[in-house]
Amino acid sequence: MRPAGTGPATEVRTSQPKEDRMKITVGGMCTGFGICENIRPDVFEVGDDGLAHIVADELTEDDRADLELAVAECPTQALRLDG
Ligand code: SF4
Repeated sequence: MRPAGTGPATEVRTSQPKEDRMKITVGGMCTGFGICENIRPDVFEVGDDGLAHIVADELTEDDRADLELAVAECPTQALRLDG
């Protein structure tokens, strides 16, 4: 098994125009504790590799508040929201 924190970053982009797309990224600091998954299990899923992955196909402005909460609550600052 790969050690936690070394996996590839995953991300999903919205279908909004390129210049104002919202993008959520899981970085290598993820420890797989699952707080993000608890907040939005339809967006985040901790895989067998012990890392959170983005499972949502598309994100909208309606998701922003939950995503900002997930970013704020992540204990390792592994989540990044752009756009
Ligand atoms: S809250 Fe942060 S550390 Fe925990 S699973 Fe999600 S991205 Fe990983």
